Amino acid sequence: MIRYSIRPQDPAAHLFAVTLTLSAPEPEQRFQMPAWIPGSYMIRNFARNLIGLQAHDGSGQPVTLRQLDKQTWALDAPTTPSEVTLSYDVYAWDRSVRAAHLDRTHGYFNGSSVFLGVVGAENHPCEVDILPPIQPVEGTWRVATAMTTAGAEPWSFGPYKADNYEELIDHPVEMAEFTPGYFKACGVPHHIVITGRHRVDMERLERDLQAICEHHIRFWGEPAPMRRYLFMTLATGDAYGGLEHRASTSLMAKRDDLPRPGLQAPTAGYLNYLGLCSHEYFHTWNIKRLKPAAFIPFPLHEETHTELLWWFEGITSYYDDLGVLRAGCGSVEAYLEMLGQTITRVYRGEGRFRQTLPESSFNAWTKFYLQDENAPNAIVSYYAKGELFALLLDLAIRERTRGRQSLDDLVRAAWDRWHEAGMPEDGVPGLAADCIDCDLSDLFRLGLESTEDLPLADYLERFGIALDWGTPLSLGMPGGKKALLKAEQVNLGAVFEADPAGARVRAVLREGAAHKAGLSAGDVIVAVDGIQTTHGKIESQVATCQPGDRIRLHYFRYDELRETDAAAEVGAATTAALTVREPELARRWLGDSVKFDHRAGID
Ligand code: ZN
Repeated sequence: MIRYSIRPQDPAAHLFAVTLTLSAPEPEQRFQMPAWIPGSYMIRNFARNLIGLQAHDGSGQPVTLRQLDKQTWALDAPTTPSEVTLSYDVYAWDRSVRAAHLDRTHGYFNGSSVFLGVVGAENHPCEVDILPPIQPVEGTWRVATAMTTAGAEPWSFGPYKADNYEELIDHPVEMAEFTPGYFKACGVPHHIVITGRHRVDMERLERDLQAICEHHIRFWGEPAPMRRYLFMTLATGDAYGGLEHRASTSLMAKRDDLPRPGLQAPTAGYLNYLGLCSHEYFHTWNIKRLKPAAFIPFPLHEETHTELLWWFEGITSYYDDLGVLRAGCGSVEAYLEMLGQTITRVYRGEGRFRQTLPESSFNAWTKFYLQDENAPNAIVSYYAKGELFALLLDLAIRERTRGRQSLDDLVRAAWDRWHEAGMPEDGVPGLAADCIDCDLSDLFRLGLESTEDLPLADYLERFGIALDWGTPLSLGMPGGKKALLKAEQVNLGAVFEADPAGARVRAVLREGAAHKAGLSAGDVIVAVDGIQTTHGKIESQVATCQPGDRIRLHYFRYDELRETDAAAEVGAATTAALTVREPELARRWLGDSVKFDHRAGID
């Protein structure tokens, strides 16, 4: 048994105090912090936030530790003590779902940010005493976690336990005065806690999440693999994100996206939030249990590569919003608007011709998670293109088997075959050949081995959906709304953001007018044809030009004023919008129960 304790020691200084007590350590026993957190494929070096690490033996005498590398320490004692306790502070001021955050309003941590692991004892059971704050905090704090109690009362500080280190760090903990919610889905108790300032209609949220969770449990098959589940949401002004765990999820959402009392039809923001909940919940099966064989076990001290993130994130992204729709929340039209935005994210840059889906997956650590201004030209998202590939597979299976099978059958077959042993890197096409009654090898070659565009329009048309392309006034627009697209729209082929001096270039698309005129990300355009410009104005100024016109641009690069001529040209029609043409055909894909909102279809 490895015993930990953690206390919000000094909330104003953002410090948790942590201890780790180990009986009968090995000679030169090593202790190690994770470099990354499962589900977020980036080296974060959590050891950077450890402060004042010390070790003592069972009688309180100091024991020397020797640091071996950025995240590993070893006992360095002439005689190995019978018991050793390590103690340290953790600086917790990362307001995200991936690390730890502490102030007087709440405390939150992932175990990977705060608990040193005992090397060689990863499979030993752990107990953690979650201790209350001593210093003043705002409100009466309670504890929310899906970790198993080892004596702590529900929602209380006290001892909790995990079977091993991997489980210990897979149960994030929230401590605050939060708003609780509760429902059962297929008999499994589900809790909700919302922290932060908000005015959520909890009954509405409980009802909608219940429908979504029951939909997913039935998709994968009863009984659900978890005995309980916890949705944790931090309500914020503008943050968005989520991370999946085996029996919970941590989410950050805009408080304005959460449902207010009296809400009738869900807003786009609320559907987006429900899509996020649906996504992380689907991961309970697809990545938390069914996972790449390369992830068994997780090496947490360095990158762990897999070519399969297109499956684990792309398939999950496909079923997240689709699950919300099929669970009865939102309309087909609202769903298609979100799907149009996903298509737009893939098609707006040339990056889709630079990486295959397996390459995008493999390089997540250094490319997708470390995106810079050149990302639209250099990479393709395994989330977004993975979702489109899942859509293509689903429509193709439905068509080629005349509706007898769908992607659902392939996903469930993957669960049956690999949820214990792990998915082999190249296993999916062979699985499809075994369990789907049609040949899909052409699509796997296209989707996994090439960077060619997928024939989405053809397949969508066969299911009663029209895919139209156009160009919006602003390339900052996410797409999905046909009324905002023009067949021919002059633009600079650049995305802009606000700057006190003018319009700052955020990204330059290759082969667009800005690229040809020599503009770069970071340049601040101050005048268009001699007239002052701003972030909100530049695209309208450019749009008044005719193709072939010269556009005089004055801009600052660093602190030097420069000028250039851009040739006005019609922007690439890479923004997508989807429209229902034949609802009865669409039902063959989306299901009989989905709701149409024909007012939304008028464009
Ligand atoms: Zn995900």
